[in-house]
Amino acid sequence: MYLSKLFIPILKDTPSEAKVKSHQLMLRAGMIRQSSAGIYSWLPMGFKIMKKIEQIVREEQNKIGAQELLMPTIQSAEIWKESGRYDDYGEEMLRIKDRQGKEMLYGPTNEELITEIFRSSIKSYKSLPKLLYHIQWKFRDELRPRFGVMRCKEFFMKDAYSFDLNDDEAKKSYNKMFFAYLSTFKRLGLTAIPMAADTGPIGGDVSHEFIILAETGESKIYSDKRILNIDISKHGNENNSIEDLRKKYDEFYAVTDDKFDKKIFEKKVKKENQLITKGIEVGHIFYFGDKYSKPLNCSVDLQDGKKVDVKMGSYGIGVSRLVGAIIEAKFNNNIMKWPSSVAPYEVAIIPTLQKNDNTNYLRAEKIYKSLVKSNVDVLLDDTDEHLSAKFKKFDLIGIPFQIILGSKSTDDKHEFKELNGKTEILTLEEIKKILLNKRNTN
Ligand code: ATP
Ligand code: MG
Repeated sequence: MYLSKLFIPILKDTPSEAKVKSHQLMLRAGMIRQSSAGIYSWLPMGFKIMKKIEQIVREEQNKIGAQELLMPTIQSAEIWKESGRYDDYGEEMLRIKDRQGKEMLYGPTNEELITEIFRSSIKSYKSLPKLLYHIQWKFRDELRPRFGVMRCKEFFMKDAYSFDLNDDEAKKSYNKMFFAYLSTFKRLGLTAIPMAADTGPIGGDVSHEFIILAETGESKIYSDKRILNIDISKHGNENNSIEDLRKKYDEFYAVTDDKFDKKIFEKKVKKENQLITKGIEVGHIFYFGDKYSKPLNCSVDLQDGKKVDVKMGSYGIGVSRLVGAIIEAKFNNNIMKWPSSVAPYEVAIIPTLQKNDNTNYLRAEKIYKSLVKSNVDVLLDDTDEHLSAKFKKFDLIGIPFQIILGSKSTDDKHEFKELNGKTEILTLEEIKKILLNKRNTN
């Protein structure tokens, strides 16, 4: 892509309504525009990053055998009356009537709808287990939408649902998701801590919130800092290996505010290992057994002809929240730097312009074409802005690498700079190698 063609409405000043860094930056870098309180349009740069995050979330769901489908945003009130949540959910639910006066709602989550789909399709225990998910917009009429995309009314979420025959099997599904979540956040360049959490309005027995550390987070956390050293790359996605990993996490104290008990914390965690800080909830998983299958009559036939309610869990990841959360976690020295896996572009080419001499620009175009051919996502700065203004802009956009064509470049060696990091003089082949390698490791 050529910078001059890009739709990227950069703002000079930080909008006063934006209180946290991610909100300020996303507005300034032309990633989002507020349409009304808590409702945003996603402009090309922001949208592109969100789509890359979505794709990583999707790949990790697929890896554990979850199957993608797509449910609508608008749901009928009926199934919510069956589950009893139509009244319980309260004011956060956006209720709508169609022209026939039928009660509808904009889905804040999908337990009811997926249960309804499942009960009308699956009859036998032989069809279990199943893991289904979709990635779809949700609406919650938050009382105080704030922090840009971190807490808004309309947001993009991955929600998965597991269906099993009994508690033991359901635990395996839960642990698979637990593993998929850790892998997902790792690929996004984040360290997420799974924390024993309250189940809230979803209800149920077991639940973990996945929290990334950030001062601006809304969740207060209490944990044993050794939990940060667990290396998930040693674990594959076979049941045994996942169970081992789960055990490693369970060894360490890690809870949010609602489950915090000072006495237990001080007894279990030595002073030097205590980590008390704030974090952002980027995912939340629940096991709730037959909480929905029972009222909604979602059962399967057993071998002996008896019926049993299926055991369910639900698993959310805030895809749109993650865009802001990554900024909050990665922001450094006034510069935003995207992990290569989700960067809007993997590398920027910045030719410095000299009067009556377009050598640098011609070199830049040649590199650009070669990178495009190798499927590298690259942005070429073809504007004639002042160099300092260019660098300011690239600091703001946060593309992790730059190829700078200036006094140090020759026909086959180029200045390759890591944003906020070191500069090397490399050949194009060497640069390609680094970029492709980064894509997988962050
Ligand atoms: P929170 O405690 O932050 O209000 P929640 O517990 O109500 O979230 P869940 O129902 O667990 O949210 O939703 C799954 C995920 O969706 C959350 O972990 C979060 O990442 C994201 N999410 C929830 N509410 C919002 C929102 N208002 N704006 C953006 N993302 C959200
Ligand atoms: Mg939650």
